[in-house]
Amino acid sequence: MILLKSPVEIEMMREAGRVTAAALRHVGEAVRPGVSTRELDRIAEEYIRSQGAKPAFLGYHGFPGTLCTSVNEQVVHGIPGKRVLKEGDILSVDCGAVIDGYFGDSARTFPVGTVSQAAQSLMDATRSSLEAGISKMRANMRLYDIGAAVQQVAEAAGFSVVREYVGHGIGRDMHEEPQVPNFGQAGRGVQLKPGMVLAVEPMVNAGGYEVRGLDDGWTVVTADGSLSAHFEHTIAITEDGPDILTIE
Ligand code: MG
Ligand code: MG
Repeated sequence: MILLKSPVEIEMMREAGRVTAAALRHVGEAVRPGVSTRELDRIAEEYIRSQGAKPAFLGYHGFPGTLCTSVNEQVVHGIPGKRVLKEGDILSVDCGAVIDGYFGDSARTFPVGTVSQAAQSLMDATRSSLEAGISKMRANMRLYDIGAAVQQVAEAAGFSVVREYVGHGIGRDMHEEPQVPNFGQAGRGVQLKPGMVLAVEPMVNAGGYEVRGLDDGWTVVTADGSLSAHFEHTIAITEDGPDILTIE
């Protein structure tokens, strides 16, 4: 069942979204060659707690970090640790915060120092694909209009969208119905309604869309070792169109 949120609930989610967005900004300001993913995780956790919020991912199904930090060919769910970032890496950071029982969830991929043109193009296309998906989040559009728009932009740039992991409804739980694929046929799926709040999160690979899991039980990598990027926002559908909650 898709839970519709009242305007009051959406305002509470906006606060969770603001904390999430600010945490990501602080992380982004610290991304540079020589920093470890564990240091970035600490920055995010300290900021989130300073706001009276809690990290949403820490302990979620046993996940050991505040952030998911996924480097280069890592797609999602990388565990923060000793890894030190190098010039030319790309780092996908996924962050969630919960405050007063409501969740925010957002992700972005950061360049570490100067990156290759190929890496920059992948990041740009992934961000553009998210924007294209968000533009479809209007009452009376259909769920798959979002994924179709994401897929069209990513594939037009020569990249592929991951199939195995998808976006999701969000609210009092981090993952609610419906699932929000980043691919599919426009015009299909449930009708979008004001009060729906969705986390849209394209994961775009430079090579093929296939992925596999590493032995740590969490980290997902591209099957062909190609680079991957990830951008995510939590967005409410309102009478006036999409309302991005994970911004400051
Ligand atoms: Mg996320
Ligand atoms: Mg998410």
